[in-house]
Amino acid sequence: MNNFIEWSTLEFRKSSGTEKMRCPKCDSVRSDKKDKSLVIYHKDGVAKCFYCDALGFRDSKKNERETKVNYTLPSQEWRNYTKLSDNLVKWFENRGIKQYVLNDFCVSEEAMYQPQLNKSVNNVVFNYFEGELLVNKKYRSANKKFTQSKNGKPILYNINSVIGCDEVYICEGEIDVLSLAQIGIKNAVSLPTGANDNDAFWINSEKYLKDVKKFYIATDNDEKGNEVAEKIAQRLGRYRCERVLFNGKDANEDLVSGCLEETILNTEKYPVSGTYSVDDVWGDVLDLLKNGIPETIKPKGEWCKGLNDIFSVMRGHLIVSTGIPSHGKSNFTDWYVLNLIQDYGMKASWFSPEHNPMSLYVTNLGTKALGTNLFKATDKQRNEFKDWATEKIYLTNADSGQEPNWEWLLDTFQNQMMRYGIDIFVIDAWNKVILNDKNELQGIRRVLTKLTAFAQQNNVMIFLVAHPTKMKKNEKTQEYEQPTLYDVAGSADFRNQTHDGFCVYRYFNEGKTTITNLKTKMSFQGEIGKSADFYYNLDNGRYFDCSTQKNNLPLWHDSKPTENKYFNTNVLPNVNLQDAFDIPEALPFEDCPF
Ligand SMILES: [Zn+2]
Repeated sequence: MNNFIEWSTLEFRKSSGTEKMRCPKCDSVRSDKKDKSLVIYHKDGVAKCFYCDALGFRDSKKNERETKVNYTLPSQEWRNYTKLSDNLVKWFENRGIKQYVLNDFCVSEEAMYQPQLNKSVNNVVFNYFEGELLVNKKYRSANKKFTQSKNGKPILYNINSVIGCDEVYICEGEIDVLSLAQIGIKNAVSLPTGANDNDAFWINSEKYLKDVKKFYIATDNDEKGNEVAEKIAQRLGRYRCERVLFNGKDANEDLVSGCLEETILNTEKYPVSGTYSVDDVWGDVLDLLKNGIPETIKPKGEWCKGLNDIFSVMRGHLIVSTGIPSHGKSNFTDWYVLNLIQDYGMKASWFSPEHNPMSLYVTNLGTKALGTNLFKATDKQRNEFKDWATEKIYLTNADSGQEPNWEWLLDTFQNQMMRYGIDIFVIDAWNKVILNDKNELQGIRRVLTKLTAFAQQNNVMIFLVAHPTKMKKNEKTQEYEQPTLYDVAGSADFRNQTHDGFCVYRYFNEGKTTITNLKTKMSFQGEIGKSADFYYNLDNGRYFDCSTQKNNLPLWHDSKPTENKYFNTNVLPNVNLQDAFDIPEALPFEDCPF
């Protein structure tokens, strides 16, 4: 992999698209002089040889400058890393990995202080490259203690290997990547932090992965490995992911027992909406027969009990929230979503241009989540909210000059899926996103089709706040009637295309707010037409069932996120940017002296 081509030495025939040419690095050793193995991707400014894996970058200096600003790069003398001790080479050989693979990956050996051992020991070093830059180093001692470069750049291991690849394997550890290379699979990366998921390394890796067509998730065959596999599939889009099922614990164990070449082909698709055979869904059928109808998603707090009997949501659904202006549909939607974040360990992203500036909007969400007005809260309370909200709440805003149209918004959401692993998107409101269609009704249909497809493909929920266009007055009372989904944006498609919907209606005289189920796609989600009554707590913007009491405790006061039947999200601790490379202490492992 330490073969790089100087961009300026290449003689291009084009300046856009892709082109092929003979590779200057391996040309002299190739017998097939006609094979143009070097592919140039002009748009991305990348060249890759599919014979010798040499790489070239148009903007390598630019990347270097950008990376240096945020991170401290290790010393760049890695080209000299060739000497490995006999013990280390033997140790890898016992694990089925030959020396040439170690050389290919620039695996090195170095003494380094291991904090967990409180002393300096010899380590195998996994060098993290991005282009020609060494951006991080991970040190692994013989007894499986880890440390890393201080303030290195968090990124997937072996990220260079995926350039220009349609298919990519994602492993849990570096040794699994080497194991795949040993059987000839080069397009493999690994998580930098074992079975832990956090935003930082995905943010830095995203541009290399966005065009990949298929991911094979090859994390460990154990509980933590399965959990992190779910999270990865959620980020990358389940429709383009398959899970590799190893016989043993991981790729390396299968390499050692000699079955990796078979088990790497043993994959299972992630269920998404589409066409299924009975065989595909048979596991779910058995589950249904054993456990009854699936549990839907709804806030777990007392405050919501009346509504939970008649309305709930599901992953993959587009949920429309409507109501007369100033009746509280944004407020209620936000409170509902904040509870799902807490109760299911989910992450949500808001696009809410009506509520600018964003800082003010955060105080609004913060007040609801904390249960106390953030303006009146103590510093300790404010920090508590900030800690809770980090890697849970995301806000989207169009940059100046960017027209906030539907194409831009869905692109942004797709991008956020990978970078942040979002579960819920809130769009507030429908009429704040520009519809570029000449025929409005056709445009509405087109966008709703896209939104439902997005929700289904990505296994996420989209809450769409939408105003009614027609408002009918009751002739007797002279009050506005509750709008229905047919009244939204003047299109029947809102009733037909959305999965779920509810109406927020405020009775100003009685101080009550009624939530009505306008639609639930599945019969077991609730009862269409039924309502539940809430009081609004002016102090903190929360709603509570009329039969319950005000609750001003923080959302996180005692409840832990509970398990969601379809997708378990509550298992991993939040890791912030600084800790992105902190490796949790591993289980004892066979000791090997090197
Ligand atoms: Zn080459």
